[in-house]
Amino acid sequence: MGIVKSKFLKLNRLILFLALSATIITFINSFYSNYEVQKEQLIFQAIEVNRAYAQKLSDTTEVFISSSKQQLAYAANEVSSQMDNDAFLMDEANRLKYQTDSFNSVVISDALGRTQAASPETLDLVGKQLKSAGSKEALEEKKALISKPYVSTIQNLLVFISAPIFDKQHNYLGFLGGSIYLKSPNILNQILGEHYYKDGSYIYVVDKNRQILYHPQKERIGTFLNGNSGLDEIISKKEGGLLLKNSKGIEMLAGYSSIPSTDWIVITQSPLESTLLPLTGIMEKVILRTLPMASAVFLFIWLFARAISRPLQQLAERAKSLDSPTVTSDIESIDSWYVESFSLKKAMLSGVKLLHNQIGDLKRDADTDPLTGANNRRAFQYKLKQLALLETPFAILALDIDYFKRINDEYGHSVGDEVLKQQTQILQVFSRDGDLVARTGGEEFVLLLKDVTVEDAFIIAERLRVAIAEEAFETVGHVTASIGISAWTANSISIEKTLSLADQALYQAKKQGRNCCVMRSLEDVA
Ligand code: GH3
Ligand code: MG
Ligand code: MG
Repeated sequence: MGIVKSKFLKLNRLILFLALSATIITFINSFYSNYEVQKEQLIFQAIEVNRAYAQKLSDTTEVFISSSKQQLAYAANEVSSQMDNDAFLMDEANRLKYQTDSFNSVVISDALGRTQAASPETLDLVGKQLKSAGSKEALEEKKALISKPYVSTIQNLLVFISAPIFDKQHNYLGFLGGSIYLKSPNILNQILGEHYYKDGSYIYVVDKNRQILYHPQKERIGTFLNGNSGLDEIISKKEGGLLLKNSKGIEMLAGYSSIPSTDWIVITQSPLESTLLPLTGIMEKVILRTLPMASAVFLFIWLFARAISRPLQQLAERAKSLDSPTVTSDIESIDSWYVESFSLKKAMLSGVKLLHNQIGDLKRDADTDPLTGANNRRAFQYKLKQLALLETPFAILALDIDYFKRINDEYGHSVGDEVLKQQTQILQVFSRDGDLVARTGGEEFVLLLKDVTVEDAFIIAERLRVAIAEEAFETVGHVTASIGISAWTANSISIEKTLSLADQALYQAKKQGRNCCVMRSLEDVA
């Protein structure tokens, strides 16, 4: 059966395919969702770490800025009564410059912008007119200020923190200011630069005009930041985290936080690529851990689906040999453990039963004479062959109704038919188990008697003849029949000869005047 190539797929293969594809799809799906979740988690964590770090740095910077402002405010108050005392002003400038690392330089100016004192003295500013943007702004505004970054007269990029000087009557006397050189070592890059980590992460500070105040690449300090995809959001939100593309087009996970007193924003960012580096290892672990379960799932689906398909396969196999004599018991032995397969099994069993019944009916029809219900010539021939094969001796009574034509003529064909039926019944009475009554022609019958000698057959024939003659047939009354007898044993004459002897005997009986029996035995042949 397996040799026949079918265009249909075998259920087994389909199930294997189903189990495999279900497992693989589930596996890929779980892998993919795991991957996505892990990736999101890593991104979220990195942004969170950067955000917290940026916040810490902005807090620290804020503390530094306000303490610088405080220092300047305090000193401005100190110098307000000593504006004519050059030595005092000089001392104060030096103190502010050298006591802490807050400023790269310190100047004290009068109300007209003339330098009263400056530190370090190498600046050589004393007595000169201050022209820088920071000084002009301080003179105009007359209040505590932190300037935008600008390039000073001596080509330093700096921010300028200043405090106004007022006397007790609140007359403006000038200002006191400290510069932080953005490109030179200062406390700001101590705060920010210490924390530079290795995996490609870095920190930079911009003001709200996108000007860079701090950057690990010094040459970028003072320039304006362009091509950073996240900067608009950073400047408008001031606090948070996001995925951005930096000016070089590299994807970065950034956290940011603003320094309130200056509106500067500290941004800490790390490359997305290095953040996701652990993902490979994580996913390897995920695969290793999922694989046993996936295999178990695959096995389960496969075995379970096979168990489902088994009765169907077995039923299909049986369906190919419905003519087998054992088909009913074969089907009955199939374990149809669920409703549908059981229904199929039941349907097949009743189908097989119906088929066998129909075959039986057809066989009976093929062997039976429809009018009398006796066997026909075909069945008679078959019986002869069987007996010959088994070498069972038998006798033949060939019977022909006398003057039957007259009955038809006189009473009609249907009455004749009734006589034939009644005649058959009488013959049936004379037939035992293993014998056979057959209608071999119009009103000709044969009674085949198993294991009976020709002599015994003659006696039986006589009794039969008498029984017929004595029978009262409906409408017709009495009818007679003539009988020719012969017999067969193995190793004697052929069956054909035996039949012909019986015919001859019948012919003889007719010739003798009918309603009589004539026997022809082997001796008659010789
Ligand atoms: P004999 O005594 O020589 O046998 O005379 P017979 O009239 O019986 O012989 P014959 O063989 O000449 O006639 C047989 C008749 O049987 C002829 C036919 O009309 C009739 N017959 C054959 N088959 C049937 C049948 O099925 N039904 C009826 N009613 N008559 C049949
Ligand atoms: Mg006849
Ligand atoms: Mg006749």
